Amino acid sequence: MSDDVRNVIIIGSGPAGYTAAIYAARGDLKPLLFEGSVTAGGALMNTTDVENYPGFPDGVMGPDLMDGLRKQAERFGAELITDDVTEVDLTAEPKIVKVGDDVYRAHAVIVATGSGYRELGLENEKRLSGRGVSWCATCDGFFFREQDIAVVGGGDTAMEEATFLTKFARTVTVIHRRDSLRASKIMQDRARANDKIRFVWNTEVADVLGDDRVSGLVLRNRDTGEESQLDVTGLFIAIGHLPRSELFTGQLDTDAEGYLTVESPTTRTKIPGVFACGDVVDHVYRQAITAAGSGCAAAIDAERWLADRG
Ligand code: FAD
Repeated sequence: MSDDVRNVIIIGSGPAGYTAAIYAARGDLKPLLFEGSVTAGGALMNTTDVENYPGFPDGVMGPDLMDGLRKQAERFGAELITDDVTEVDLTAEPKIVKVGDDVYRAHAVIVATGSGYRELGLENEKRLSGRGVSWCATCDGFFFREQDIAVVGGGDTAMEEATFLTKFARTVTVIHRRDSLRASKIMQDRARANDKIRFVWNTEVADVLGDDRVSGLVLRNRDTGEESQLDVTGLFIAIGHLPRSELFTGQLDTDAEGYLTVESPTTRTKIPGVFACGDVVDHVYRQAITAAGSGCAAAIDAERWLADRG
């Protein structure tokens, strides 16, 4: 165990974590940030064009944006370690953060571990991610003007995405594995009333077709096993999110879906000196810019908390 007690440790390296590091470093807190080993840089490392991050009129490649945020954090003196935090004790004073057998201590901790998207689990889904397969209508809907596309899922998110996508697409086919929707009545009614949306029931996506870009889907009826082909150029997967909050189970509160809860509009959790930001908290907006914004808020909340405790 190092004798050093840090001002602040940040866990997570997406837009939220790096932005928290930029602000904490500029506040002279000398933050230590754990980036994660495999997924350092966060969700945008897996995408190509990001067209909606302010300040980039021609768009920016996801990995380039993250590299810029990382360098900006380093420039102001943030220390970055490309490892996974494996255990925390946030109730200890100072708080304890472990990477295997290595123990780090800090007065304040900022959690920015993000969330993952549920996947269908198909090989071609991964291969064509960013090439017609998407998990975010707000991010990518614009690319599908006057095209025929599909949405998989039956919950509120799927209905919201399908309805939003009709602004751009010629048709939106909602593919659902059951014969009724889980979505709230109001979201269902809105989608059903939209004449660009049609539903395919009791059906799952068996494969995604296309060499460089999505060109169609193989659908399988769950009752009959019968397979058919649907010609679409886009597939939006809306079957849920997985906030990365397991590390904090029993220490921080979560809502029913596993998102960490904070004293909104601040980033304070129920443990003094522990703050949470980005997609591990947010089940509403889930954008790079909102994650970055809440990372900024977390650093300012931490700085003020540290100053107040003297
Ligand atoms: P993340 O970006 O998920 O980063 C969290 C990171 O923390 C993890 O990746 C990991 O490296 C690290 N971490 C997790 N657990 C640990 C641990 N135990 N120890 C150490 N490190 C850990 N948004 C837009 O605004 N525009 C877009 O065009 C856009 N396109 C997208 C395309 C794709 C394919 C995806 C998946 C998402 C897209 N998004 C887009 C959404 C955007 O990426 C997220 O909203 C944003 O990245 C969330 O930021 P975050 O910092 O909260 O978490």
